[in-house]
Amino acid sequence: MSIKNNLHSILQSFPDNVQLVAVSKTKPASDVLEAYNAGQRIFGENKIQEMVEKYEQLPKDIQWHMIGHLQSNKVKYMAGFVNLIHGVDSFKTLKEINKQGLKNNRIINCLLQLKIAKEDTKFGFSFTEVDQLLESTAFESLKNIQILGFMGMATFTNDENIVREEFRSLKNYFEASKKYSSFNFNPTQLSMGMSDDYKIAIEEGSTMIRIGSAIFGNRNYI
Ligand SMILES: *Cc1c(COP(=O)(O)O)cnc(C)c1O
Repeated sequence: MSIKNNLHSILQSFPDNVQLVAVSKTKPASDVLEAYNAGQRIFGENKIQEMVEKYEQLPKDIQWHMIGHLQSNKVKYMAGFVNLIHGVDSFKTLKEINKQGLKNNRIINCLLQLKIAKEDTKFGFSFTEVDQLLESTAFESLKNIQILGFMGMATFTNDENIVREEFRSLKNYFEASKKYSSFNFNPTQLSMGMSDDYKIAIEEGSTMIRIGSAIFGNRNYI
């Protein structure tokens, strides 16, 4: 199957309100261009340097999403163009994004990453930590970021019930968090679901699916 065919068959199963983030990490710019020529405009990368290189080479109407774990000292390299940062998992990083947003005279869209999986290797806030963050006066002072919702990754398992339960817990938290809505917290997006579990994620209320290997084929390295 070609990239174009993969994209089209995936998009057929998508409801209208769900966006596809094509995860192009480790893949060459020529693969991104092939997906672009098939109509795809949103691409996800997990390394800032790699995203910057592709941004420079590729059409400027691409929306670049950063989906990886962030190193604060590298935020500045993407602050001028990144469309959405999915993996914000500390207040320190959020403050750095805000600082770079101010420098670039823009408001940077972010999702807070929540830890929903049982494994300890996954990054992310707990629900309680996000409650505390959203209630804090320190959060109110961040004028150059806008939180559009949450991102979560389910446990890597064949047990569909575990995956479904974890997505459901995030969706429930997402709905409950709407009580905190404010100028910089506007929860409309729920980023959950990857190549192996996106169908479950859609059933459980995802609005943004991050798919890599099912579009571009297997990666040689992560
Ligand atoms: C790599 C990656 C994906 C895509 O994974 P696939 O299994 O290839 O679809 C999605 N989300 C994050 C955070 C990733 O790092």
